[in-house]
Amino acid sequence: MASKVTEKAKARWLELVEVIEDARRRYYLLDRPTISDAEYDQAYRELEKLEEKFPELISADSPTQSVGGSASELFEPVEHLERMFSLDDVFDDEELQAWVDRVLKVTKKIPEMLCELKIDGLAVNLLYEDGILKRVATRGDGYVGEDVTYNTQFVSSVPRKLTGQAPSVLEVRGEIFFDLKDFSLLNDQALQAGRSPFANPRNAAAGTLRQRIDKREAELFQANQDSKTSTKIERLKKEFDMAAGALRKLQLVVHGIGRHEGVELKTQADSYRLFKEFGLPTSNDFLVVKSFDEVKKYIKKYGESRHRLTHEIDGVVVKINEILLQQNLGATSRTPRWAVAYKYPPEVVRTKLLDIKVNVGRTGRITPFAVMDPVRVAGSTVTNATLHNLSEIERKGILIGDMIYLRKAGDVIPEVMGPVVEIRDGSEKKFKMPNICPECGSKISQEKSGDVDLRCPNAEACPAQLRERLFHVGTRGALDIEGLGYRSAEALLTENILKNESELFNLTEKDLMKSDYFTRAGGKGEEKRVLGKNAEELLSQLEVAKTRALWRILVALSIRHVGPTAAQALAREFSNIESIEKASVEQLAEIDGVGEVIAVSIKEWFSEQWHQKIIKSWAKAGVQMREAKSKGPQPLKDKLIVITGSVTGYSRDGAKETLAQLGAKVSSSVSKNTDLVIYGRVDGSKYSKAVSLAIPRLGAEHFAVLVEQGFEQAAQLAEK
Ligand code: NAD
Repeated sequence: MASKVTEKAKARWLELVEVIEDARRRYYLLDRPTISDAEYDQAYRELEKLEEKFPELISADSPTQSVGGSASELFEPVEHLERMFSLDDVFDDEELQAWVDRVLKVTKKIPEMLCELKIDGLAVNLLYEDGILKRVATRGDGYVGEDVTYNTQFVSSVPRKLTGQAPSVLEVRGEIFFDLKDFSLLNDQALQAGRSPFANPRNAAAGTLRQRIDKREAELFQANQDSKTSTKIERLKKEFDMAAGALRKLQLVVHGIGRHEGVELKTQADSYRLFKEFGLPTSNDFLVVKSFDEVKKYIKKYGESRHRLTHEIDGVVVKINEILLQQNLGATSRTPRWAVAYKYPPEVVRTKLLDIKVNVGRTGRITPFAVMDPVRVAGSTVTNATLHNLSEIERKGILIGDMIYLRKAGDVIPEVMGPVVEIRDGSEKKFKMPNICPECGSKISQEKSGDVDLRCPNAEACPAQLRERLFHVGTRGALDIEGLGYRSAEALLTENILKNESELFNLTEKDLMKSDYFTRAGGKGEEKRVLGKNAEELLSQLEVAKTRALWRILVALSIRHVGPTAAQALAREFSNIESIEKASVEQLAEIDGVGEVIAVSIKEWFSEQWHQKIIKSWAKAGVQMREAKSKGPQPLKDKLIVITGSVTGYSRDGAKETLAQLGAKVSSSVSKNTDLVIYGRVDGSKYSKAVSLAIPRLGAEHFAVLVEQGFEQAAQLAEK
């Protein structure tokens, strides 16, 4: 319901318009936003709500009435034959349902819809006349864009000439974008040059496409004509090559139709098929559906698998498939009513870097980490993020007090992308690496010159290293002792129950009685404490851990560089710990999956007296340090499984071996006999073949279900 506009609402409206206009200028014209998309979307939404409540506030030049950009002075302005629009955003199923309801008011029944990926790139308009490319322009304000035809001659996926029966006039719209690997390469270059990284592939694509490469080319030509010094010519040539090189990496996918004459287009999907015949790049990932449930399924599927694509998407676009219906539905001043963008939760946000602190790791490595203003990203709140090492901080040019871009793709570790250099106020400070260990006070240094990492040398007694090592013994990739988590490791050490890991398997009930963490009150009114659940769990699981496979023991010993893959290779070769100790560096290095560096590290580890004490003490307590004779159970016996892409937490061989140990046959190619394809990526040929042969496909995130709960359980989670 509209209400009378208040002074407060007016003031807020002005404030929001200012924020949005400034953000749009930086985003569309400079390609360098200083706020995140999530912040922008929030301000925009607030403005929409305010105008909904007080319609009087809406003016022709309110940001809600225009598509956002404008044509810059950089390029010649060109008028599109047909207008280009933005898209309405929805952020959840309810908002999507509201869009469907609005469509239904016109169509009366659910029409055919086309779902496709919302590629994070820059919108362009391509005009072909009699099959010849006449012009490429950016979207600009939707009516007038910038003429970037010259620049697109370097972009190989933009065809200069159409193939087949090309119509007399064809205006198509598409997205210019970077593959993820090229995007990160470009950001590395930006950081090296002391610039802010691009916040997203879209700004990177826009920044690259909208460079004046013609000017560089002319300068180079002139310098050659004037026989300038070879240094100057070389510099100009380098600049030109860099610009052209970046343009060549851009890609195009066509997803929209403008003016067309001499061709009849009935549906969006048919148009894509026809465009393909003309040699225009279209996506293979679109799907025509007939129900709202199928739309939701498509959104969910790509929400889960978006990180396996080679390019970034920020959502899914749903369009009415029939073009006549599209025309009936029409458009508002900014967006078509026949299409909507479902946006996934933001994965790049902006926050303040409050401080940089350091952590001491299991092997003494000192790792700086960012302490940030808490910020919500990709579904969780983040306050800390690793910064890896000093050279990484320097490479990214991060200062304490900076606003930073933070990214978290799916459930992966949060990553500080870089600072927003443009809005520094001079109060930011450079980080200085401490020279003593914050936990034990030892002088920290590089182990050998040239190392990037600094280390605390007090491996045996530094409380941080001890805590991390003890915790590591219990982790899944080592001895898998659930009762030995971070808190129990801390309790065992701080309450002096253990001095170090050598006594771990000698723990008794009496020892654990000393700690509140392992005990509980004896009963009502009783002061006496009795052994708690934590203690029972730890003691019983330690017993089980004594008979774990040799490779797990090797991992649990925290020998530098020895992870599950190397440990499994060692265990296969030697079958007991004494033989590994006796082996020479050469013998160890020869083993596939071990190599020189690990071999030296193993030798060094065994040469330490206190390490010897751990082995002796563990062996005396009954820890089996040899391969068991018989094979374990074979729940995946005779199953033919193919893995494509990576499985988090496993090396390629490690994942295969885990399946082989459970009896599966692991093959590298998909055939009709394949029982299951485990996929870490959806854009490879193995995945496509599995789809075409209707072989069940299990997302790599469910690998643990297959290993721990068996084939039937995993099959229920697989797509068919
Ligand atoms: P949009 O990006 O939300 O959606 C419209 C665009 O989607 C189209 O122009 C097209 O280029 C693109 N698109 C990608 N795949 C498509 C497909 N398959 N079919 C159709 N279109 C497809 O809207 P917009 O108006 O271009 O930009 C608004 C958005 O830009 C905001 O929501 C925000 O995320 C971002 N923005 C950020 C800032 C900032 O300061 N951070 C400022 C302005 C805008």
